[in-house]
Amino acid sequence: MKIVVDASSLFYGFQVEGNNEYIITSAVLDEVKGRKMKGSLETVIELFRIIEPNKSTIEEVRKTAKQTGDLDQLSATDMELIALAKDSDATLLTNDLSIQNVCKRMKVNYQSFGGKSINTEIEWGYRCIGCNRKFDRSFKECPHCGNELKKYPKKRRPITDST
Ligand SMILES: [Zn+2]
Repeated sequence: MKIVVDASSLFYGFQVEGNNEYIITSAVLDEVKGRKMKGSLETVIELFRIIEPNKSTIEEVRKTAKQTGDLDQLSATDMELIALAKDSDATLLTNDLSIQNVCKRMKVNYQSFGGKSINTEIEWGYRCIGCNRKFDRSFKECPHCGNELKKYPKKRRPITDST
């Protein structure tokens, strides 16, 4: 099975399973490499094949996201991942509801990534790729410099089961 993995799945503690072929875009790799991660994750990333999606497919994703109303929620990286999954006829591993929504519309297979044994709740923030300012909400573009905002996991909170 071919699997495309998004950045947040990697941060959840993604692990390679069986004979799956894992693919990723270089943008996601950059996003992941810019952050601190556990040693094991770095090893895992070595196993990924880096493939860039077709520009025409990215455009198709953008149009679809506009139709579904998810465009504001998707970063350029997100759209590349959807396009890559489409191009490669792969399954996209993601917990992002907007990505899943667009996948559904484009008939791209996706799977939620459940993490390990504990559930975590992510609080998303948005960061400008130009000036690096951080925001609690998404804007079409950075109010300070006009660059694109990227979603990032601001806080992860384990949901402990008290029963
Ligand atoms: Zn900015």
